[in-house]
Amino acid sequence: MEEIIHYFSTIPSSHRTIILLGGLTLGFSLESIIPMLRFRFNRWKHAGINLFFTFTTVIINFLFASLIIMMSDWQKENEFGVLYWINFSPWAAMIIGILGLDLIGAWMAHFAEHKIPVFWRFHMVHHTDPGVDATTANRHHPGESIIRVAFTMFGVFVMGAPMWLLMLYQSLSVVLSQFNHMNIKIPKWFDTAVSYVIVSPDMHKVHHHYKLPYTNTNYGNIFSFWDRIFGCFAKVKDPRKDLVYGLDTFPKKKEHSNIGFLLGMPFKPYRPPRTDDHIEIEQ
Ligand SMILES: [Zn+2]
Repeated sequence: MEEIIHYFSTIPSSHRTIILLGGLTLGFSLESIIPMLRFRFNRWKHAGINLFFTFTTVIINFLFASLIIMMSDWQKENEFGVLYWINFSPWAAMIIGILGLDLIGAWMAHFAEHKIPVFWRFHMVHHTDPGVDATTANRHHPGESIIRVAFTMFGVFVMGAPMWLLMLYQSLSVVLSQFNHMNIKIPKWFDTAVSYVIVSPDMHKVHHHYKLPYTNTNYGNIFSFWDRIFGCFAKVKDPRKDLVYGLDTFPKKKEHSNIGFLLGMPFKPYRPPRTDDHIEIEQ
């Protein structure tokens, strides 16, 4: 426990970068060896777009880091937050802290992005990806990254999470989010088994189906049980056949695969969800 606290209290930026890029490299390799769906587009171009948005996400997180540190330090001095108010053992505090950060900082943020129209406009960029894979995990418009930072701060505030715990949470979150976006063939029994605790690839892919109602299900980031608890869990019989990735309102390649267009997407006139069935998501 001491080692975990020490490591994450002083984790260098280089290690955080290695975790991010290591996960992406592993994902990219596994997707080449055992893909779930054949890629029908240029993978490098696709990865380039998503890495651009990963990069802007990293920059925004970096810009807000000192603000979160200041807040967390203030909470320590004033013993403010759930983890200060209740005297948990160190292990219990770690687990409850991770659960709290996942619920408030990630699940609620994601739920809000689907329910609050102005947030959805930014989150659409993530959903327009026509080929979900490990690189999709951090395909977030800079505006969405700011929304997520705000929820993360709220999570830290409520929980009284020390910085080492936030670093531990974020490291787990990066890797597990890449895992559940990965386009790899894994045995059905394994996917089902892990999906009772953490979000599995098949579970998250349902959320990336191109139209409602599946888009508004399975909001989980690390833990899958929030969706079961709040009644928004969904699954399909065969994700390979029953799902189409992308977004009904932005099916055109020149829109969903163009960085300039994606950056301006939140500011375009609103397009309501489509009700017709004749939508082809261009690859
Ligand atoms: Zn979503």
